[in-house]
Amino acid sequence: MAITVVGSVAFDSIETPAGRRERCLGGAATYFSLAASYFTDVRVIAVVGEDFGPRQLAVFNARGIDTQGIERAAGKSFFWEGSYLENLNEAKTHATELNVFGAFEPKIPEAYRDSEFLFLANIDPVLQRRVREAMPNARLVAGDTMNYWIKDHRAALLEVLKGLDILLINDTETKMLAGNNNLVQAARAVLAMGPRMLVVKHGEYGATAFHGASKDGVAAKTFRAPALPLEEVVDPTGAGDSFAGGFFGYIASQSKITPATFRHAMFYGSVMGSFAVERFGTERLQQLSREEIDHRFGLFRELTHLD
Ligand code: AMP
Repeated sequence: MAITVVGSVAFDSIETPAGRRERCLGGAATYFSLAASYFTDVRVIAVVGEDFGPRQLAVFNARGIDTQGIERAAGKSFFWEGSYLENLNEAKTHATELNVFGAFEPKIPEAYRDSEFLFLANIDPVLQRRVREAMPNARLVAGDTMNYWIKDHRAALLEVLKGLDILLINDTETKMLAGNNNLVQAARAVLAMGPRMLVVKHGEYGATAFHGASKDGVAAKTFRAPALPLEEVVDPTGAGDSFAGGFFGYIASQSKITPATFRHAMFYGSVMGSFAVERFGTERLQQLSREEIDHRFGLFRELTHLD
C-alpha cells in the first residue's frame, strides 16, 4: 500500500543543548517520509527552491521514496530556525520563512492517484485542503498541524479537520485548538471538529489516542503508548513527524486494519520518534534497518509488559 504525503520539505537551523546545526535537511514531509519508508511505499508532494540540490534529493531516493511530486521553483526553500535550550519537549521558533511554499500550487502526479493512504503533514492548511480534495478516493486520511497555523489560519484549518480520519498533534496544540486546558475535554472538543481519532503527542512522555464519545470524565476509548526513556536526546526536531511516519506507515503496511493495528501503530510511532531524536536532523532516520526497528519495538513491549 502506498502513502502520499504533502507537507514542508525544508532547511532547518537548530540549536539544542547538544550543539547547533545550520541549514540541515528538514521539513515535516521529509521526517514523515523517511520514517514511513521503513514500512511502505511513500510518495511526496512538496515544493523546493534552487538551494535544494542532488545531495538533498539523494536522501529521499536512497530510501526509495517517490519524489516525482517534489516540484522545483525559482527562489529559496522553506526555512525554519528553532531552539530547545529551555525545554526539550517544545521548540522555540526563531524564524519561519515559507519562501517557495508561499505561491505553491500542488499538482498530483498521475502515478500518485491510486494511493489509498493520504497524510497531510504540517504546512499551510489551504494546501492541505487542496491535496485532500484532489484525492477523494483515499481510504484513510491523517494529518498534522502546529501552533503557527492554529493561531493565525484557524478557519482554513477547521476546513481541513472536517476531511480527516486521524489528527496527530501535540498536547499544547490540542489545548490551544480547543481553547481548553484539560486534555480530555480538549480532546473531546477536537473530535467534534471532524477527525474520528485524535492522537496527542506528549514529547518525551509518549502519545495518547482518543476516539469515540467520552464518559465518566475519561474519553470512551483512550490508549496511551509511552516514549522510550533515553539517556541523551540530541535533537528533538522531527520527533512528531517521525512518530506520524511510523504510526501511519505501519497502518498502511497491514492488510487488515483492526483496533489492535492502531495500538501497534502507536508503538511503532514511538519507536520512530525515539530514533529521530538520537542525532541531529534526519541523520538517524536515513540509516536504520528493519531489524533495529523491530528490536526497539521489543524494548517497548518490555517497558510496558505487566505479567
Ligand atoms: P516536529 O516534528 O514538530 O519537530 O517538526 C519539525 C519540522 O517542522 C521541521 O523540520 C520544520 O522544518 C517543520 N516546520 C516548522 N514550522 C513549520 C510550519 N509552520 N509549517 C510547516 N512545517 C514547519
